Amino acid sequence: MRPFKKVLVANRSEIAIRIFRACTELGIQTVAIYADEDRLSLHRYKADEAYLIGKSKSAVDAYLDIEGIVNLALEKDVDAIHPGYGFLAENAELARACKQAGIVFVGPPAEVLEALGDKVKARAIAQRAKVPVIPGTKDAVKTDQDALLFAKKHGFPLIIKAAHGGGGRGMTIVQNREELLDAIARSRSEASKAFGSPKVFIERYLERPKHIEVQVMADAYGNMVHLFERDCSIQRRHQKVIEIAPSRSIKPAVKDRLYRDALSICREVGYVNAGTVEFLVDKNGKHYFIEVNPRIQVEHTITEIITGRDIVQTQLRVAEGYSLDHDTIRIPGQEKVKKSGYAIQLRITAEDPTQNFAPTTGKLTAFRAGEGFGIRLDAGNGFEGAVISPHYDSLLIKLCSWSLDFDLAVTKALRAIREFRIRGVRTNLPFLENVVDHERFRSGDLDTRFIDDHPELMR
Ligand code: ADP
Repeated sequence: MRPFKKVLVANRSEIAIRIFRACTELGIQTVAIYADEDRLSLHRYKADEAYLIGKSKSAVDAYLDIEGIVNLALEKDVDAIHPGYGFLAENAELARACKQAGIVFVGPPAEVLEALGDKVKARAIAQRAKVPVIPGTKDAVKTDQDALLFAKKHGFPLIIKAAHGGGGRGMTIVQNREELLDAIARSRSEASKAFGSPKVFIERYLERPKHIEVQVMADAYGNMVHLFERDCSIQRRHQKVIEIAPSRSIKPAVKDRLYRDALSICREVGYVNAGTVEFLVDKNGKHYFIEVNPRIQVEHTITEIITGRDIVQTQLRVAEGYSLDHDTIRIPGQEKVKKSGYAIQLRITAEDPTQNFAPTTGKLTAFRAGEGFGIRLDAGNGFEGAVISPHYDSLLIKLCSWSLDFDLAVTKALRAIREFRIRGVRTNLPFLENVVDHERFRSGDLDTRFIDDHPELMR
């Protein structure tokens, strides 16, 4: 056991503040880093200490400066670094640099990050754990022949995916043989530029799947539990927009298979700390593994709401060396993880839904949030006068609603959306309102094509 006195969060905005809050509640001192572009950002002021990082680097690169961040942590006597999501989360090099410096990395070991960071390797791990994967190439596509043979055997449509891709990027759907080879060449070159590796593989493209993911928590002693599932089928361009916990669109028997398989994969790879195992589920309830996200996820909030478990605090406790059954965590076994009601998360972004979701930037001239019973808010720069930078992710605030009843959770979400007043930049609030108010959303009949099926929602 090595209780932390001071934790540095190698991230910004919403998730940095979320982690500071967890630390403060645990009596841990907090250290923020901020790029020059972020010198007026809220996260800087929410920590006990804050330091400018990457002075000569770009707004984004400042948060990717492993050496600078680890040196700062050493200088300021930091016990652990929490990477949040995005930026250096899932970065094995940071995990290694931390270890060498005698600092705890709040996340899985470097080897686990390495194995799971490559989707081809992750598929092989799932197969070793006897978990179904989508029919796909066993390895990276090396030659045109590989691609043509796969297409001949499996037919179309297919999806080409970057092995190191993320954030819904690096995927191309191919409808026929004529497009295939060009698409492979393009995907390779795009993957090289975006993810630093040209490695791509091919999978069958499932037409109308549901995206269901299982939250897992594991300690360093082999104890492991799941915290149920989230339905993240409401996506735009393969990126999540609205998440629901628990899922209403799959049967209990399917859920049980997902929990079992999520834990099998985590066991197979020697997983430690919080992680998410993602699956696609087809209309017949058949499930397929797609990937593991070895980090805290944006949508962890809704699992916290239905289980009452603070996932970020648990991450910190596990990283300190406590076992899940310890008094500080209190999860002596799966049966102790309970859930109650339904939670919905809406990602409120600085994007204009009438302009194909082009990012909007500038100063917020008004900011009033929808609040009240059953609402949880996690904001980054959500205040009057905040300046929304073009350099970062467009997420402004996460709005979660909760109720014992799904319909009431929807009603609360709608009420809160309508209470919001954000002026100065356009936001996606009107779009979110249209989606949540849609009868198909209320009915729970969701799949990943929902938004494509309803272009009228973008008004
Ligand atoms: P990323 O790491 O970029 O998030 P994922 O592999 O998790 O990529 O996939 C993101 C989304 O892309 C999925 O939720 C799903 O909507 C879509 N997708 C991925 N693979 C397939 C597939 N084989 N068939 C249909 N849709 C897919």
